[in-house]
Amino acid sequence: MQAVVVTPGVANSVRPVEVERPELGPGQVVVRTLQVGICGTDVEINRGLIGEAPPGCDHLILGHESLGRVEGLGRGARGLAVGDYVVATVRRSCPQNCLNCRSGESDMCLTGDYTERGIKGMHGYLAEYYVEAPTWLVKVLPALKDVAVLLEPLSIAEKAVSQTFAIQRRLHWRPQTAVVLGAGAVGLLAAALLRLRGLETYALARSPRGTPASQMVEAMGATYWSSREHPLASLTQELGNIDIVVEATGNAQVALECAAVLGNNGVLSLLGIYPPYSPPQAPVGRLARELVLGNRVVFGSVNANRRYFETGLEHMAEMEGRWPGLLDRFVTRRLTLADFPAALEKAAGDIKTLIHIGH
Ligand code: BGC
Repeated sequence: MQAVVVTPGVANSVRPVEVERPELGPGQVVVRTLQVGICGTDVEINRGLIGEAPPGCDHLILGHESLGRVEGLGRGARGLAVGDYVVATVRRSCPQNCLNCRSGESDMCLTGDYTERGIKGMHGYLAEYYVEAPTWLVKVLPALKDVAVLLEPLSIAEKAVSQTFAIQRRLHWRPQTAVVLGAGAVGLLAAALLRLRGLETYALARSPRGTPASQMVEAMGATYWSSREHPLASLTQELGNIDIVVEATGNAQVALECAAVLGNNGVLSLLGIYPPYSPPQAPVGRLARELVLGNRVVFGSVNANRRYFETGLEHMAEMEGRWPGLLDRFVTRRLTLADFPAALEKAAGDIKTLIHIGH
């Protein structure tokens, strides 16, 4: 079958290749891949910065944002039927099956020895077929199949927003103002979720107004600001107490600096997979001080378990009802497996590139 692979650790190694079709084991289903979304993590993997091949393999099949259709069931596989549309989760439990992994929270894996399909130690979904156990697959109703490939990035935003509210059970809290930094898919989806919760939401990104992303922000009743006209440093003056900040630019410097715009009792969630470098001392000192004096919470968040995928689906249906056509507009490029490596090059205004594999 056709697949797109990288050689982990080697820059610019992404390539379409022929690989063996995976064997269907007992308790598994075989899925025909229909669509795969591309994200910054795929780009980082192709830069050789992260990514790990499965044991004994010299390549990694890329892709972790997927939509597929069940084509066959292995012996004893339960819970899905041929023809079902499915979105696959990404992370798999650690071999030790730690407290969190065995509780269905592999996104909170205690040991760090988890694997992730298309990223760390397991092949991904940028291939014509994949096999998986139903427990890792989320069934999608046909009504949502055209937008369901966004469910994985939505699950990242779901987790951040839902944990923000869970953390704030520590106090009496009536949040009004939220700021999302970054207008990529995760930032936009986080803004949509915050709007669904009724927050006055501002999305900040570098580009001036008028981009597709800024129009989508406005379509959901949020405000789009270019950070060139509204720099981080002036946000508190402009908006007053900021209750929630979601950092989705992936820029570590921005991540540090936005802690300082949080209001008292505010929560910042960092969603970027930040490049590992030592930041200069001064911002770190300022950050620590602001955190302590404002009783602020900053939390890192990575991955999402099926609970977030399930609430994601409910919210997707709500978004479709409230903002018809909005989710469709996320997809700005439609390509095929043969379009690699060019598919990884992001054009100006691009939000989500989709790779169409089957139909
Ligand atoms: C994926 C997550 C994953 C993270 C770190 C993100 O792009 O959406 O599922 O946990 O990368 O590997």
